[in-house]
Amino acid sequence: MIQLYQPLNFMGLLYREVKQAVIDIELMFNILGQAPEVEDRGDATTLNVTRGDVRFENVRFGYDSAREVLKGLSFTIPAGHTVAVVGSSGAGKSTLSRLLFRFYEPWSGRITIDGQDIAGVTQTSLRAAIGMVPQDTVLFNDSIGYNIRYGRWDAGEDEVREAARAAQIDGFIQRVTGSYEAQVGERGLKLSGGEKQRVAIARTILKGPPILVLDEATSALDTFTERDIQEALRRVSENRTTLVIAHRLTTIVDADEIIVLDKGVIAERGRHEALVAKGGLYARLWNRQREADVDAEQDGSALPPD
Ligand code: ATP
Repeated sequence: MIQLYQPLNFMGLLYREVKQAVIDIELMFNILGQAPEVEDRGDATTLNVTRGDVRFENVRFGYDSAREVLKGLSFTIPAGHTVAVVGSSGAGKSTLSRLLFRFYEPWSGRITIDGQDIAGVTQTSLRAAIGMVPQDTVLFNDSIGYNIRYGRWDAGEDEVREAARAAQIDGFIQRVTGSYEAQVGERGLKLSGGEKQRVAIARTILKGPPILVLDEATSALDTFTERDIQEALRRVSENRTTLVIAHRLTTIVDADEIIVLDKGVIAERGRHEALVAKGGLYARLWNRQREADVDAEQDGSALPPD
């Protein structure tokens, strides 16, 4: 029996590794929309995260040489703090997260984590240090427990449940399926955008990375779901260096710094109250969103689902 068990066990491990690689690539495609271009340098070192300080230093970048998307950006996210990036569509917000993951290299300038230029570290060590809650989460045709455990394969059942609780998805699982073994996907449980995002939050809680990138969903979630998600995100970002790519300004009023991007440059920066008082671009974005929220409440689309 043991003779049979060992190769089977090995096959199981192999299967997981292959599956993990496929998932990572899928996630990458999800973020990028295209294949990765960057390779490790021959002398790449392992990133050593001691505090989790992230710095963008005069970063210039474009996807093709004819058009510069980021025109010399500098900002710091001190360890454990949250910086939110806002700006109109196409301003370059998601590009910042792609550069932090090193899916692309800056034309000039550099990005450092605890003083180490990310261009000189291995991509594996870089990506192990960063957790991502993407706009659209990929779920696999497997159990809900499997989908959460993807954050860390060796997590025990208690840890999976604890993460699900913190991400505010445990109640839903108990109510709808009663089991973490329930299948999700085409032939199983179908999850809404907000529920999928909570699964992504649970994965990230399990992974427990020192640095976090939250790419908010552009699609409008109802106000009540959004509040739950906000609470889950607040918990996951506590004591972690967090970069929020924000589409909903209501979610970032507590950020330590808000960076307003406009055509690849920082047009304004500061905390929410100060930026609103300033009456500039951020104040205009804020007022526009408030008006849209009032309209949504009036036509009933902000009501919770029954
Ligand atoms: P949104 O709020 O709509 O998500 P964003 O501020 O995140 O927008 P980015 O995705 O960073 O914007 O894109 C910045 C600019 O770079 C846009 O003009 C976009 O068209 C361009 N861009 C993004 N990805 C690519 C790509 N893979 N190849 C070429 N150009 C790209």
